[in-house]
Amino acid sequence: MAQWEAVIGLEVHVELKTNTKLFCNSSTEFGGDPNTHVCPICLGMPGTMPVLNKRVVEYAVKAGLALNCRINRYSTFDRKNYFYPDVPKNWQTSQNYLPIASKGYLDIEVNGSSKRIGIHHLHMEEDAGKLVHQGTIISSPYSLVDYNRAAVPLIEIVSEPDIRTPEEARAYLEKLKAIIQYTGISDCKMEEGSLRCDANISIRPRGSDEFNTKTEIKNMNSFRALQRALEYEIERQIDVVEDGGEVVSETRTWDEDKGVTLSMREKLQSQDYRCFPEPDLPPIVLEEKWVEEIKAGLPELPDARKARYVDRYGLPAYDAEVLTLTKETSDYFEEVLEHYPQAKTVSNWIMGDFSRLMNENNLEISDSSVSPVQLADLLKLIDKGTISGKIAKTVLEEMVKTGKDPVKIVEEKGLVQITDEGEISRIIDEVLANNPKSVADYRSGKTKAMGFLVGQTMKATKGKANPELVNKLLKEKLQ
Ligand SMILES: [Zn+2]
Repeated sequence: MAQWEAVIGLEVHVELKTNTKLFCNSSTEFGGDPNTHVCPICLGMPGTMPVLNKRVVEYAVKAGLALNCRINRYSTFDRKNYFYPDVPKNWQTSQNYLPIASKGYLDIEVNGSSKRIGIHHLHMEEDAGKLVHQGTIISSPYSLVDYNRAAVPLIEIVSEPDIRTPEEARAYLEKLKAIIQYTGISDCKMEEGSLRCDANISIRPRGSDEFNTKTEIKNMNSFRALQRALEYEIERQIDVVEDGGEVVSETRTWDEDKGVTLSMREKLQSQDYRCFPEPDLPPIVLEEKWVEEIKAGLPELPDARKARYVDRYGLPAYDAEVLTLTKETSDYFEEVLEHYPQAKTVSNWIMGDFSRLMNENNLEISDSSVSPVQLADLLKLIDKGTISGKIAKTVLEEMVKTGKDPVKIVEEKGLVQITDEGEISRIIDEVLANNPKSVADYRSGKTKAMGFLVGQTMKATKGKANPELVNKLLKEKLQ
């Protein structure tokens, strides 16, 4: 591996959150009975005429601006011809020659250093329908086709081949998803297919600037799948070359269960699609004023928020990066701050225990039953000395489970911190009497024994003793 490096480019398809399709009024709603969100236009009936959905253009411009692209004032649609049963017209309407936006970039953060990845271009196109099989595509005696998704609007974002490692690819996709989500033009749900990623990948000797034969991997529907697929494919290509073979230009698919990429078909070259300008749609000519309006309406994007968190709240860059990676987390963080204005404490809790509990319960922060006000209330209880930080973790677990207020949980479970010196002192006396060996160890200079005695005291109080008082009193008694 050391003498090889990978050259990776990503193509990301984003389904736009419009109510209607790209060229007709059919609904774009996810799900629905097969072939209920269709009309003669999206079914490609002869004699129908497409009418461009203005909202799609607006969203594509929005994405282009958010990704630092040049917005092309003149762009066109083309027909990309191929036969496939889920594309009823036998061509896909796309922007092959003059896309709506080009020459952008986004910045990623990997292992503490920042890197800029170029975006070659961004174009609009229509989605395909879906084939449904009994069992697998090979064993099924028939194919059924559902055109609900046919002609749902997509944008495709094509990166420059600037990505060198699977970690960088993952960071790029995470950042891209964050930016798109902030703009509100898509819900970016990878599991529902509204964000999909293909990767082009080749290898070359480290330090070389040649571009070798690449393969394309399709079918990656999570960040983890993308990273694993690329790791596998890099190793595979190195093995092929080191064994004296040649990498062939082909389309491969990622098999999540087996953890391998598999060959699907030889890769079609773009000339194989016989692209030509779409005769039924006029060129898109954008007015300067409209583009300016869209630009003025852009929300604060992840990088700007990140900078604000560092400047205004004094958060470490790492915290700011993690908190802004999804809009939900970032919005949540800011709402907690309104009720409990100590940024670093809030950040520690959100990035630490709260995130862990969300992951364990397979929840998104926005679906959680813990409101920002409730999290703020929990932190206030620690400050007031009502509960210790340790007990607060238990309370938070209960909050995630039940959605109850922290004050109520503390009351019901009798978790109020013991701050009475007399009571703690009595408990310590018992602990010391029961652990004479540790006491002797401590007095003979083995200071580690202190930790054990603190632990025993906390255990005896079910974690409710004020830890500072326990430490103070123990030290006094052991002298
Ligand atoms: Zn339609």
